[in-house]
Amino acid sequence: MEKKNIDWANIGFGYMPTDYRFVANYKDGAWDEGELTTDANITISECAGVLQYAQTCFEGMKAYTTEDGHIVVFRPDLNASRMADSCRRLEMPVFPEDKFVEAIEKVVAANEAFVPPFGSGATLYIRPYMFGSDPVIGVKPANEYQFRIFTTPVGPYFKEGAKPITIRVSDYDRAAPRGTGNIKAGLNYAMSLYPIMEAHRQGFDENMYLDPATRTKVEETGGANFIFITKDGKVVTPKSDSILPSITRRSLVYVAKEYLGLEVEEREVLFDEVKDFAECGLCGTAAVISPVGKIYDHGNEICFPSGMEKMGPVIQKLYDTLTGIQMGHIEAPEGWIKVIK
Ligand SMILES: *Cc1c(COP(=O)(O)O)cnc(C)c1O
Repeated sequence: MEKKNIDWANIGFGYMPTDYRFVANYKDGAWDEGELTTDANITISECAGVLQYAQTCFEGMKAYTTEDGHIVVFRPDLNASRMADSCRRLEMPVFPEDKFVEAIEKVVAANEAFVPPFGSGATLYIRPYMFGSDPVIGVKPANEYQFRIFTTPVGPYFKEGAKPITIRVSDYDRAAPRGTGNIKAGLNYAMSLYPIMEAHRQGFDENMYLDPATRTKVEETGGANFIFITKDGKVVTPKSDSILPSITRRSLVYVAKEYLGLEVEEREVLFDEVKDFAECGLCGTAAVISPVGKIYDHGNEICFPSGMEKMGPVIQKLYDTLTGIQMGHIEAPEGWIKVIK
């Protein structure tokens, strides 16, 4: 298979249409079989549920080439079950989880020419999503839905090594108590756009959101979960009903315990404790872990001892182990790596 002529190292994170996408439609109470299509455009009613009441959710994962030349996807079954949770919360029909994984395999295989080669640092980003497609004007769930998966090649997340970032404590909330913070809904992102642009205007890379009820506990950023390392080398990660359960974070917790023999605490984390941690990182599919060097809180700065030059040593070990598992240098736990071809 000849790869597309793309400057893999320099494509950045933008949308570049690929040859095929998967589409399935839900109508009269049932999903059709779904198929691959070359049509990147969607035509829907002006009154579609997604356009009026934001009835939509999504997922995100990556396909990449391992050292031995296989095209693989990391734990797509967890994306399938998380999307099912999102759909249930938004009164949308679940796309069957096994069919979801099959559709991922189909769309990645069809776009093989866009899967970046091993060593480029680039990956093929996979975006499954679903939306209410028929007209709704009274507030209620749609009757018809479309489930789609497109792919787009994205460049290496860290071009010149993983430099620690600076984040600020946000005065806005990303989720309400007992709201939709624990599902991957577009609406959570819509309300985070103003705070993230404001953070950027003020010179910060990301927002740290606190728990919306008491504003004393750490939740997450707009699109990544936190992990902290204590001075005695324990991994601490916030637990809350309004955090999106990151697959990367859950995988890192497993790696910390089972591969590195570290102690892990998944618990409420008070913001007041943060100044005592030795290392801090943000976890998500895109970067695996982005190190945080500094947190700005209304005039006070928390500077982690790991500094602003490189990842702290424990986070580096976690990062190296998980990326080693993903790339096939380290043996993966059963079922983590889905080989496409
Ligand atoms: C997608 C997402 C994450 C990261 O999840 P991964 O499964 O690790 O990619 C974290 N927080 C939010 C709010 C997200 O939407």
